[in-house]
Amino acid sequence: MTMHNLIEKAYQTNDLSKEEIIALIETIKPEEREILYKRALKTKQKYYGNKVYLRGLIEFSNICRQDCLYCGLRASNTKVERYRLTPGEILACCDKGYELGYRTFVLQSGEDLWYTVEILSELIRQIKKRYDQEVAVTLSIGERGAETYQSLFASGADRFLMRHETATEELYESLHPTMSFTNRRACLNALKEIGYQVGAGFMVGLPGQTPADLAEDLHYLKELHPDMIGIGPFIPHSETPLGKEKGGTVDDTLVMVALARLLVPDSLIPATTALGTLHPLGREMALQAGANVVMPIITPTSVRKQYALYENKICGDDHPEDCRYCIERRIQAVGQEVDLGKGDSWKFIVGSL
Ligand code: SAH
Ligand code: SF4
Repeated sequence: MTMHNLIEKAYQTNDLSKEEIIALIETIKPEEREILYKRALKTKQKYYGNKVYLRGLIEFSNICRQDCLYCGLRASNTKVERYRLTPGEILACCDKGYELGYRTFVLQSGEDLWYTVEILSELIRQIKKRYDQEVAVTLSIGERGAETYQSLFASGADRFLMRHETATEELYESLHPTMSFTNRRACLNALKEIGYQVGAGFMVGLPGQTPADLAEDLHYLKELHPDMIGIGPFIPHSETPLGKEKGGTVDDTLVMVALARLLVPDSLIPATTALGTLHPLGREMALQAGANVVMPIITPTSVRKQYALYENKICGDDHPEDCRYCIERRIQAVGQEVDLGKGDSWKFIVGSL
């Protein structure tokens, strides 16, 4: 099949075989990428129009018990200064975010068991009550037991982001000495079963990752059919075992964002901070290649730089209000519009009609 036909097939049928995905990744030329991005943009517009949903991101603890080889927060990295926001401090971030117009709060952290199910449940209830149930609470706190996920859902959590990281078992196991491929998948299945809007996703450009691995990621996403899909480039962090490896590229990541849009057309796809870190216009390019969510940081400026999953992360000296308006300008500059609503996924809205 010619590249043009492959892109057309993806656009018309929202389906490509693994072989077709591999061929596309291996042979796509720059001018063909532009066609792919336009098709992905058009597909996003069919489901979500020109809207871009904003989520206020609160990075509430950088303490982590896991040891993912790629991540600057891994337990073995003794060079990070660790911090933990109290529930009161997290609520203050929410107040600031609410004032700035955000109606989704994403609470993200390392795997920090100081936040017990009781502490988290109470925090979630407080957030929901404080704003009269008008906000969505998204958790991104890593692996816990199904009972914990169930209790947090019962307390009002709406969504859960947990990237599958890579859908190839061998690659997954080699990057996660303290975790297992089977358990990651079991967690994602449990979250979906409980009723969360679930976000999965992966990194592009991991050491040893091949086009076949990326095709596996896309097929896994098609099968799981999550509400959200986070895709970002791997960016090496010098205080990790992968510090000297090459990272992912902007182009490769954008191709995967566009393919995710074409293959899971009704999903919510963020233009990730990692893309914005690799290129000053990385997030804008993602919005023009099928992404439709941005997650501006509302973490207090005093601890932002300590939440370094990777190095040179953007916005480290900014305040929440800087990010709010900077993002709005960027979205408008590419001819799209900010939507400050809760921003549920298409699947979730249709499923609840
Ligand atoms: N601890 C939770 C949430 C925080 S990590 C979890 O792991 O699910 C959030 C995401 O950051 C991870 O899913 C991973 O995909 C991404 N990440 C970590 N290190 C990174 C790096 N060096 N480059 C790019 N993304 C990274
Ligand atoms: Fe911890 Fe998440 Fe980083 Fe893994 S990716 S080390 S679980 S913060």
